Amino acid sequence: MEYGMLRRVLAVFGVTGLLAVLVWAALTLSPGAASRAVSAAGPEAALLAETPVVGDSSVKWTVGELTFESRYPSGFVFTAEISSSAGPIVRGRVIWSLAPGTQRSVPFEINADTGQLVAEWQPGPGESTPPWLGLTYTWSVGDAAGNSFETEPRYAEYADTSREWLRSESEDIIVFSQGLPAEVNDLTLEAMAAQRETYRAAWGDLLPYRPRAILFGDLDAWREWQVGQMSANIAGLTRSEWGGTVQRVTGAGERDIAYGTVLHEIAHLYQDEFTFMPAGNWFIEGNATFFELQQYYDYEAAVRALAAAGQLPALLEGTGPGVSGRDARRGYDIGYTFWVWLTDNYGLEGHRRLITLIKEGVGRNDAIEQVTGLSVAEVESRWRVWLGASPTAPTLVPTPAFFFLPSPTPYVVGK
Ligand SMILES: [Zn+2]
Repeated sequence: MEYGMLRRVLAVFGVTGLLAVLVWAALTLSPGAASRAVSAAGPEAALLAETPVVGDSSVKWTVGELTFESRYPSGFVFTAEISSSAGPIVRGRVIWSLAPGTQRSVPFEINADTGQLVAEWQPGPGESTPPWLGLTYTWSVGDAAGNSFETEPRYAEYADTSREWLRSESEDIIVFSQGLPAEVNDLTLEAMAAQRETYRAAWGDLLPYRPRAILFGDLDAWREWQVGQMSANIAGLTRSEWGGTVQRVTGAGERDIAYGTVLHEIAHLYQDEFTFMPAGNWFIEGNATFFELQQYYDYEAAVRALAAAGQLPALLEGTGPGVSGRDARRGYDIGYTFWVWLTDNYGLEGHRRLITLIKEGVGRNDAIEQVTGLSVAEVESRWRVWLGASPTAPTLVPTPAFFFLPSPTPYVVGK
């Protein structure tokens, strides 16, 4: 039994705000009924198998109203009416995730007068949580007789209702913007659609969730959700446990944001999902830059100028160019050209093979050698010559005979 079924059932009966969480109960629910006792025994037991119910099999759980209230920026509150025929509710938590694979929970308190279960969460230091993240949550409760029960997942958003936000969504992304021209939302949907098949080919699949981009125009809105260490100096933040990226938009045009910044940041979500790349180096930033469809300037030309001036640093041996401090941009650009070189020669299939090998635990340079069938020194030399630099004289490493030689697959986007 899946969540979609529950939603369809609810849509049919128009039950809103008060839903019996077990689907079998929902199937027999008449419009307007507030709750329904369900039994884990009998013919529906198989259907209930997804809901972890342990203990006395004859216990009846009754689920009444479940609510979620966003108190952005001060957290959120869940309430529930859940009871067991076997005894009072004595323990449990609300468990939520913002993206698949990440989970948080808080215990609830029981209102002695009404029996209502209430769980509150407030962001503490180090828990800065921007608005408009989506939560999928369940109640996990236990009664005094030792029985356990878990509600079907429900969905809610950490909504900032204090100011005007524009929300747009497509199959690729959910966009929220505030204090910005409305055009930025449409452009972001367009950019994500334009890049969809490239992401799929490069990573092997699309993200298993719909990412969100939360774009702030106003500084006060940007600061409001930040607790502790963060500062207004941070231009943006992308976290896979949020399933999205938040960006403070200043100066840049809407098209730069949509086709540049957002596509770059979404690529970081792909990196977290499909491979393992330590953050903060040219390899990872160059990779995210590779997915931008609009550049703030011509990155390849900038690196070619560097090469012509004899200033192209070593890439694969040693630490490579840095991506912080005064020369940060240079590291991004140089890294970008590596990924262009790789995909020009080995296609997006080469990209996919490289990130897959790295995920499997193969070291970066070993993985590059396996994908290209070339030694690291030869790769570096070819990349340099392609950029118009001297090949230098890399110390040639004998190429082991067992390299798998790939057959590069040319890839045409959207054709
Ligand atoms: Zn980046």
